This record gives sequence, C-alpha cells and structure tokens, in this order.
Amino acid sequence: MEIMSESYVPFHKLSERILKTYIDEKKEPRDYIGASSIGHACDRKIWLQWRGGVQPKDYMEPEKWLKQQRAFERGIAEEEKHIARLEKSGYIITDRQRGFVFAMPTVSSNSFSYSCHPYYSGLKGHIDGIIVDPDDPEQTKYVLEIKSAKENYFKGVLNPKKGLREIYPQYITQVNLYMHFSEISKAFVLLVNKNDDELHYIILEYDQAEAEGALRKAQRISSIDSIPLGLRKETMPPYQCKMCEFKNFCYEREKTLDSEKCTC
Ligand code: SF4
Repeated sequence: MEIMSESYVPFHKLSERILKTYIDEKKEPRDYIGASSIGHACDRKIWLQWRGGVQPKDYMEPEKWLKQQRAFERGIAEEEKHIARLEKSGYIITDRQRGFVFAMPTVSSNSFSYSCHPYYSGLKGHIDGIIVDPDDPEQTKYVLEIKSAKENYFKGVLNPKKGLREIYPQYITQVNLYMHFSEISKAFVLLVNKNDDELHYIILEYDQAEAEGALRKAQRISSIDSIPLGLRKETMPPYQCKMCEFKNFCYEREKTLDSEKCTC
C-alpha cells in the first residue's frame, strides 16, 4: 500500500496551476475594434477592449476570471461541435472563419492620454461560416453565427415580447456587419442553451442602417482620445455594468485613478 505524507493533500494546487496556465498564455494585444463588441451599449467598454491597456484579470478575483476564461473556451469548443453536427446533418457550410476588415486611418498613440496600442487597424470580424440548406431549391446563402446562452437569456430570446433584439442587441449588430461585408442578405443564428443544449434558430434579414450605423460608431469611438465615461454611474449602475469584465476597474475608484496613469 502506498504511504502518503499526512500533510500532503493530493491536487491541492489544481486551481492555482490551471489559473497560471491562463495567465501565462501570451495573447497579442488587439489593435482593432471587434465586430462582436461594437454593438455593446457602452462606449467605454468598446474603447477599453480596443485599447487593451486595462486587463480585466488585474481587476477580477482570480477564480471569477478563471471561470470566465473557461466559459470562453467552452464557447469556442461548442461552436466547433455544432458546426460538425450541422455538416453531418447535410447542411452545406463554407467560408469557415472568413475574416473581414473595415480599415480606418492609422493613428499614433502619442496624442492619447491612455493607450497601449501604437496603431489602429480598423474594425475586424470573422464569420463562423456560410450555410446553405440542401433542400432549398434556391440554394440561398446565409451567414452562419453560433451563439450559446445561459438558460434565462435563452428563454428571453424565445419570449416573443423580448426576442434577440432585446436580449442580445450586440449580436444583431455583429451579424449585420457580417452580412454587409460578405454581401449576403440573410443570416442564420443558431442559439444553444448552455444548460441543456436546446437549440433555437433565428433568421435575420440584412439591415443596412444597422450595419452602417455600426461602422460610423466604430469611427466615432476610434477618434476618442481619453477613456470615455460610458454607462458608468456611481449610484444605480445599469445592468450592463453588473455583467461587465471591467466592472471592478470602473467602480473601484482608487484602482481606476492609479491605472489611468498610462505606463506605456
Ligand atoms: S462596467 Fe459599465 S461603464 Fe464600465 S466598461 Fe463595463 S459597461 Fe461600461
């Protein structure tokens, strides 16, 4: 029989070790505004994600940050799984991960009060693919977008009084940008319930005003040269703040003041 030291607890460093693997992962800073973020209601969040000077992990409890990273990874893995299943079901999927760039003039960071990126390459995004229903006599192309949602958000999308527009307005903006850049007038959004894998799909028609409005918004935000106030409200923070990865940064005044001194 194997003898263990009485003081040794097997795998007691599991969380710590796994957390370190995420922290050690080198990610290239983003020099663009993502199509998935431009539809968010908070300019400050879009600006912070773009400029990259504030790392949410520096302002979050490690366990919470780890949970968020795992959820993100799970989302990517789930996407692959559902695309493989759609293909197995006979749907024709092409143009996987095709990227788009809406180039905007490069700006120097020197004039910015808070910046870590030396240049700005525009608005970028990539589609999950283009999907065609094999039974469709017209062989209509749809931009494919796969999203997963917690139970209460999933049910909210199914609720005719709410729908995708109220629960995830940023998805509508994102998918309209994809339709705009791929010159396809329809989109197929597959929503997956994270709790039980229930599926729900939504067909969207291209909305030119929505896409062009998002491009103008990207141009406007890219011209802001100091951290915008956004939705931040000391009294009664809106629900978007409660779910935001920058919540502690925005609401912990002391840290905020320290961090706004750019160290680039
Ligand atoms: S916490 Fe609120 S104000 Fe701060 S970036 Fe997030 S949504 Fe915007």
